[in-house]
Amino acid sequence: MKNISVLGSTGSIGTQTLEVVDQTNDYRISALTAHSNVSLIEQQIRKYKPKLACMTDENAAKDLKVRVADTNVKVLSGIEGVCECAAIDEAEAVVTAIVGIAGLKPTLSAISCGKRIALANKETLVTAGEIVIAEAKRHGSEIIPVDSEHSAIFQSISNQQKFLKRIIITASGGPFFGKSKEELKNITPEMALKHPNWSMGAKITIDSATLVNKGLEIIEAMHLFGLSADNITPIIHRESIVHSMVEFCDSSVIAQMGVPDMKLPISYALSYPERTVPVCDTLDLVKVGTLSFYDVDNETFPAINLAKDAAKKGTIMCSVFNGANEAAVELFLNGKCSFTDITKFIETAMSKAPKIENPSIDDIFMADDFARKIVKECV
Ligand code: NDP
Ligand code: MG
Repeated sequence: MKNISVLGSTGSIGTQTLEVVDQTNDYRISALTAHSNVSLIEQQIRKYKPKLACMTDENAAKDLKVRVADTNVKVLSGIEGVCECAAIDEAEAVVTAIVGIAGLKPTLSAISCGKRIALANKETLVTAGEIVIAEAKRHGSEIIPVDSEHSAIFQSISNQQKFLKRIIITASGGPFFGKSKEELKNITPEMALKHPNWSMGAKITIDSATLVNKGLEIIEAMHLFGLSADNITPIIHRESIVHSMVEFCDSSVIAQMGVPDMKLPISYALSYPERTVPVCDTLDLVKVGTLSFYDVDNETFPAINLAKDAAKKGTIMCSVFNGANEAAVELFLNGKCSFTDITKFIETAMSKAPKIENPSIDDIFMADDFARKIVKECV
């Protein structure tokens, strides 16, 4: 039995992590955190009996304290409380399933204690990849990706990193694959929240529809696998069966496949280098029938090129790309901007980004605030 903590336990990845815990019987829960979903975390606390729990929303934390007063859990609050949960002594691994840049400080807290990071929170590497990877090396903390593409790349590379030439990262294309720029103008949040293959939190579902998600994932892959953006090729794969591929120097291409179910990469990130009992359905390729691949339409979906541009310009530009996107997605979900405004606003924020060499974590949060402010001024 390994002790693990789950940050963001009430979300899509968080709840699937707890399903993996139930299915494998290999893990005990040390700490759970959420933002404001008190009723779900209360149920989780009663079932998994963690030592620590935290709500980032102060009122939710007060409410939770009263609700679980009859248990032994200690309830903390705020982002400092999440950092304390991430650093809890008894846990060997931490699943980072918080959404957005809010996951950065807790991830660094777990890294500073040398814990294994099962990394779902891609925004951590997008905004502060260089610092995070350097800190992980310094503290001997392993970062194992949960993102399905990165798990596929990690599994496909195996121990052949020195022969790696190129990554071919797959994208489902989202619900608006094949649509024209004109057709995208009238997309509503309800339409964008319907992903064809994956059931995920609202923010990443919108990111998948704009293809910002693939842009974030390219930056994430650069940091995880030490390649430049030019050596990471995005390709549309409608069925989401081939989770990504790697090409070695001799032109051999290795892919990892499976049904689209996040429980598999979550489980692998926790059990690596071992593997566990099956946590999802087995793949029946005959039933799938056809695997299709297409080029990305960068004209209609400019997000990947914006991300690659940000990657070339460095950490601060990546933080601006990410912060502007987080702010724009929130506006879109609240009906305050159109679907196509999301990438327009990112581009505007990037055009005004400050230049800072060797930025600190404080500089990164400053760039994030800056991007959010610019996006608010756009509406
Ligand atoms: P969800 O929105 O479903 O869940 C987010 C979790 O984080 C919830 O527990 C939420 O609590 C908590 N949370 C929200 N805001 C804050 C905050 N400001 N501070 C602390 N905690 C907060 O997201 P997903 O599970 O879909 O995604 C989580 C991360 O994993 C994202 O970075 C995403 O890109 C990545 N990812 C997700 C995949 C998926 O299939 N869902 C696939 C690959 C990567 P509460 O419920 O109380 O609001
Ligand atoms: Mg992914």
